[in-house]
Amino acid sequence: MKRLLLVALCLCLLSPGTGKIMFPSVEAAESISAPEKHNNEAKNWLCSKCSTKVESPSQPNGSNCPSGGMHRWNNLGEVGDTVYLCDKCSIKVKSKSRPNGSNCPAGGMHHWNKLTN
Ligand SMILES: [Zn+2]
Ligand SMILES: [Zn+2]
Repeated sequence: MKRLLLVALCLCLLSPGTGKIMFPSVEAAESISAPEKHNNEAKNWLCSKCSTKVESPSQPNGSNCPSGGMHRWNNLGEVGDTVYLCDKCSIKVKSKSRPNGSNCPAGGMHHWNKLTN
């Protein structure tokens, strides 16, 4: 198994045609600017009791809600670059798409308005 891998590695280093040994270009790899790391995984979480908003990939800790007892987190969806404002509870979220509308702290469903910069 190990020997097979070694042979494969050697074959990769030989460029067919020219007979020259190719080295992977480190410079080229570094010159390609990596896309800005933008917590793709992060989601907007809103407690429908105390209106606290948290950006987190997973559900935030539920203890010690200022409104008493445990937070009641609602997943509003993935964090993005578009700003939405609920004109009922005045919560503003940066979201990829229209946030989840359920459980507005002001009662019923959120009423999201897309804000343009
Ligand atoms: Zn809370
Ligand atoms: Zn709302």
